[in-house]
Amino acid sequence: MQSKKAMGSLMSKTFAQRKAVILDLLMEESSVSVSELAKRLNVTVVTARADLAALEEEGLLVRTHGGAVPSQHPKVMKRMQAEKGVKGAIAKAAAAMIKDGDTIYIEPWRAKAFPVIKDLIVDRTAFDRIQQAGGFISVNTSGNTQDANNILISKHAADSAMDAATCIGCGACVATCKNSSAMLFVGAKVSQYALLPQGQIEAADRVRNMVAQMDLEGFGNCTNTGACEVECPKGISLETIARMNRELMKANVK
Ligand code: SF4
Repeated sequence: MQSKKAMGSLMSKTFAQRKAVILDLLMEESSVSVSELAKRLNVTVVTARADLAALEEEGLLVRTHGGAVPSQHPKVMKRMQAEKGVKGAIAKAAAAMIKDGDTIYIEPWRAKAFPVIKDLIVDRTAFDRIQQAGGFISVNTSGNTQDANNILISKHAADSAMDAATCIGCGACVATCKNSSAMLFVGAKVSQYALLPQGQIEAADRVRNMVAQMDLEGFGNCTNTGACEVECPKGISLETIARMNRELMKANVK
């Protein structure tokens, strides 16, 4: 836990200090999300967004939906080269420890539901099967379908659904979770429909089927460590897991 002093120094970070942290993060991760930045800098998402906007004006990054990526600015490229240089130095130091005839095993993370195919490649089709179990809506295409623009949706719901829909199914959440839980992924996929009127008709079947498939695939349970949210490159929030749990409870009492 951070001391009050440490918290104080975080809270009093100047823009220049925040800028340095943001650029460091961009070098390390190749992208940053607004929610992650707000957490790391101990500022509101409004301030995090404003910082990204200011850095975009300086040409140092390019804003994306919910975050930012590094720009091609010469200063940024120079820092990236330097970063690569550090990584190269680490690789060299590691290589120096290897003697002729040594056998080296380099493996990806191990999650039962993501079996290793070969070398650093894992089979992530478990996510596809979860998606196929309910991650869709059925639409009547007979010509009587209501125009989507006639359905009123609050801005907050539309934004939250869009945020959830940015999940790319990379599996970083599973990789980082000590339980190999896929709840952030499934929470995102359930949320993107649960928040919209179009997702209501099949909502109960959707959440039941997707959660059942998730269990069938062998993913572990969530114990709320929050590691998934920190590692997620798209800034998917833990709120999606809470929403999925609520949806499941609703479905089960129907
Ligand atoms: S880490 Fe984020 S983007 Fe990747 S699968 Fe998990 S929730 Fe989706």
